[in-house]
Amino acid sequence: MDFDFSPAQQQFRKEVRSWLALNVPVDLRGRGFAASRGDREAVVRLREWQRTLYKAGYVGMDWPAEYGGRGASLVEQVIFYEEMSRAEAPQPLNRSGLSMLGPTIMKHGTAAQRARFLDRILTAEDIWCQGFSEPNAGSDLANVQTRAVLDGDHYVVNGQKVWTSMGHVADWGFFLVRTDPAAPKHKGITFLLVDMKSPGITVRPLRQITGEAEFNETFLENVRVPAANVVGEVNAGWNVTVTTLAYERDLLTMIRHISLRTALERLVALAKRTERHGRAVGSDPVMRQKLAELLIAERCLQLNGYRSLTRVLRGVPPGPEGSTAKLFWSQVDQDLAEIATQVIGPYSQLTGESALAPDDGQWQFYALLARGSGIRAGTSEILRNILGERVLGLPKD
Ligand SMILES: Cc1cc2nc3c(=O)[nH]c(=O)nc-3n(C[C@H](O)[C@H](O)[C@H](O)COP(=O)(O)OP(=O)(O)OC[C@H]3O[C@@H](n4cnc5c(N)ncnc54)[C@H](O)[C@@H]3O)c2cc1C
Repeated sequence: MDFDFSPAQQQFRKEVRSWLALNVPVDLRGRGFAASRGDREAVVRLREWQRTLYKAGYVGMDWPAEYGGRGASLVEQVIFYEEMSRAEAPQPLNRSGLSMLGPTIMKHGTAAQRARFLDRILTAEDIWCQGFSEPNAGSDLANVQTRAVLDGDHYVVNGQKVWTSMGHVADWGFFLVRTDPAAPKHKGITFLLVDMKSPGITVRPLRQITGEAEFNETFLENVRVPAANVVGEVNAGWNVTVTTLAYERDLLTMIRHISLRTALERLVALAKRTERHGRAVGSDPVMRQKLAELLIAERCLQLNGYRSLTRVLRGVPPGPEGSTAKLFWSQVDQDLAEIATQVIGPYSQLTGESALAPDDGQWQFYALLARGSGIRAGTSEILRNILGERVLGLPKD
């Protein structure tokens, strides 16, 4: 593991830092760790923010220059995310477009798909959602039942997706559909790009424990999708999906700790200024221990991320760090949210509507949001299965 940044990388850090100092809009600053993507107005602001980042060359940093990216190294990306965290700036809105779909189209898409979609992902003109999960296909994703039948040069799609984040504001979605029900379940799936404004699509918001509705049920009834929107081969969508999920996991492994650090730094500041029984909460020995444990956990995640980064830079295939990082991160995320409520005390229950809520009610939102950390992008139980069986070689039953 090499912890030193080269002079060019340090220069890049300086550039990013000064740019962020000048350009992060005041109303978006500090909303990095518990930001809503459900609220339509917030989405409009975040779309603008992505455009500002794009014009400065900070969106799609890893994308090759021929597709409108910067061709930046992984290390530069990590530096960029570290600086974003330091500036408490929100992430680009079009997350699944940038980190999952874009690289998938580059690898498996046609020239026409690249020309049509890639630029507009970078500029946030097209916001993308991910239509993978279904009521009976979450952890067991290969069980998708949404059916697509070829009719001339279109597929007719019928079925239901669920937990579609940003489905209510997305322009396009990348969907997994079953095109050959007779084939073994991994073999009859196709990866399809669907215009979310197509007739026959109904998006119903699902209200979450946080009170917002960031994800949705998506119903598809006789939706006609051009066959030209298939990515990769028909019935080979599972291989395409593996690419999509691998891209999601790779970079995330390296930057998972960053959102925690933003929250933790805020929490430490809060512990210093919040008084109970006439003294700062942060001076309480038990609370100090808890905060120190969180800090150590965040550093462990960072080092695990650097280990993963080093492997990738050396051309070694990713190890189990992706699974350990996700599993550990979700536990620490939930611990952090819980300890924050202890630091803040009863005020932690106040929403942003109350002037007495610390940090505009972000802690109340975060405490509830963190409940989903052990579910999304692979549940903790499934990750333990993967680590137990594939890494430790434990028997399946
Ligand atoms: C905030 C959030 C955003 C999301 N956004 C999206 C999105 O944009 N697009 C999308 O397609 N999906 C999205 N999801 C869905 C997410 O990927 C699924 O919730 C996840 O894969 C789990 O699937 P499930 O909900 O069907 O639960 P299930 O798979 O039904 O699991 C239920 C419970 O059983 C356990 N379990 C299941 N199988 C096993 C097993 N073999 N061994 C042990 N335990 C098991 C699970 O761990 C879990 O505790 C999102 C989820 C969340 C929470």
